[in-house]
Amino acid sequence: MKPERTLVVLKPDAVKRGLIGEIITRFERVGLKLVACKMLQVSRELADKHYPLSRREFIEGMGKKTLENYKDMGVDPKKEMGTDDPYEIGKVIREWLVEMITSGPVLAMVWEGPHAVELVRKITGHTLPLKAEPGTIRGDFSFDSSYLANAKKRAIKNLLHASGDPEEAEYEINLWFSKDEIHSYERAEEKVME
Ligand code: UDP
Ligand code: MG
Repeated sequence: MKPERTLVVLKPDAVKRGLIGEIITRFERVGLKLVACKMLQVSRELADKHYPLSRREFIEGMGKKTLENYKDMGVDPKKEMGTDDPYEIGKVIREWLVEMITSGPVLAMVWEGPHAVELVRKITGHTLPLKAEPGTIRGDFSFDSSYLANAKKRAIKNLLHASGDPEEAEYEINLWFSKDEIHSYERAEEKVME
């Protein structure tokens, strides 16, 4: 099996809370290989490309997560957000998201290994930290929800971005890193796990 690669971005809340080491450790100890890493201040342009307005299913997906959270809590989306249309809600959230990812330095990384995309998502946990299992990064270090975030007109502080599927990973890795920033070496596990 060809090893997969996936993009992880530690968002400004993770950097400001001093959780860089803690988070990297979790990916490292499972056997994933860090092949690229840099700290940067994200520009509006990069944020716009990373969270593309043109990807309707992504925008709608964010709106749906808010609607599910409201349903669980018995909250009326029309009262809170002025609409119950997932796409309209998603567009509002996306603006907050761009503001958040550009609000301070982030740490961008590429992790490599078998099933890297799925493994990283599993270790990361549910988008809403409230719903994320204990043992996952989001579940262990945050309690945030759509309800709390929307009430403050901000994106959910869930510490990190992780590519959702291999196609998204390929697009995002090319967007954030040039070929010569991605490295190649062998980890000891590779021999043991053969
Ligand atoms: N988000 C939010 N409110 C929501 C849903 C999503 O603020 O109701 C933010 C959250 O920071 C999330 C990001 O939008 O990480 C991207 O959403 P996506 O559905 O791609 O979740 P992820 O892939 O990060 O788990
Ligand atoms: Mg996503």
